[in-house]
Amino acid sequence: METSTLIKKVHMNCPLCDKMHEVEERTRLATIALKGDKVTYEERFYFCANADDDENEFETGLMTNENLLNARNAYRIKHGLLTSNEIVDIRESYGLSQVDLARLLGWGEATISRYESKAIQDEAYDTMLRLIKDNPLQALEFLKKNADKFPGLKRVEVKSKIVEKLDSYGKEYLTRQALEGEYASFEEPCDSNGFVLLDIDKLEAAISYIAENVSNLFKVKLMKMLWYADALSYKKCGLAITGLVYRHNEMGALPIGHYSLMNLEKLDVREEISLNYDTMLHVYPSEGMNYDVLSNKEKAVLDSVIKKFKNYKAQEIVNYMHEEKAYTGTNPGEIIPFSLAKEIRDF
Ligand SMILES: [Zn+2]
Repeated sequence: METSTLIKKVHMNCPLCDKMHEVEERTRLATIALKGDKVTYEERFYFCANADDDENEFETGLMTNENLLNARNAYRIKHGLLTSNEIVDIRESYGLSQVDLARLLGWGEATISRYESKAIQDEAYDTMLRLIKDNPLQALEFLKKNADKFPGLKRVEVKSKIVEKLDSYGKEYLTRQALEGEYASFEEPCDSNGFVLLDIDKLEAAISYIAENVSNLFKVKLMKMLWYADALSYKKCGLAITGLVYRHNEMGALPIGHYSLMNLEKLDVREEISLNYDTMLHVYPSEGMNYDVLSNKEKAVLDSVIKKFKNYKAQEIVNYMHEEKAYTGTNPGEIIPFSLAKEIRDF
């Protein structure tokens, strides 16, 4: 009693004397044994002045929980583990629910909830939490590894939350990683990629190069022009330019990873609203783009494609592509092999 501190007086129904009266809310330092170790922590309790000396204290259930939480946090601090508040902070920095953070780390769904309120985490779990603290790249790695833990579209939602956190971590690096990730299964030169591996420097340069020469360049048309550039290059010298892999889509050839592609940080892509209120991605030339990564041969190929399709509307280039063997000879969703792509009509 002497070593405790009065916080405030509260008028309440006292369970000790079963009357409404004023009781004192107090704190003191207490000691408890946790995981075989004695720790000192701050304990809060009520004091009733009307009761007998040996039974004049009580706690509400809420107080008991908070006291235990304080005791566990004291243990955590003593042992260099993250406190429950620090775990909450890490989770909130990603804007994730307890269940989603647990899934992200590949743990049981209730694990984070327990660490934030009850149990003390093991050191291995503590290490994993520290790994993702301020490191969204690491969080994305965990997401890849534990993708199957997320139902339906949840994974996409969680991914976008992690991506939001990257500002200070080199967006360019990350947007590249996203696209490279989609090309993980095309790490060998083959008929699917025109016998070149994905080259993002060349891809960005080629897109900006096309945009320099084609006004009103929107996504659908750009995708077709990239395919024609890769197909023409392959036809001429047996190698594509960008290393993109294209699928048969109802709108013609569409590269794998086209969403990530349009997100590449070095590209100047702006959302614009069309007359019928559709969102359209308008591609502009990028300031300061380095075109030296493209060989003269590759630039000549791009020039031919630009000359041919410059004034085509999106629908016209789609219709034109629909006549190609690459389109008629493949089924929806199938990868268009360059052995077929090289059969494009002369232009
Ligand atoms: Zn009382």
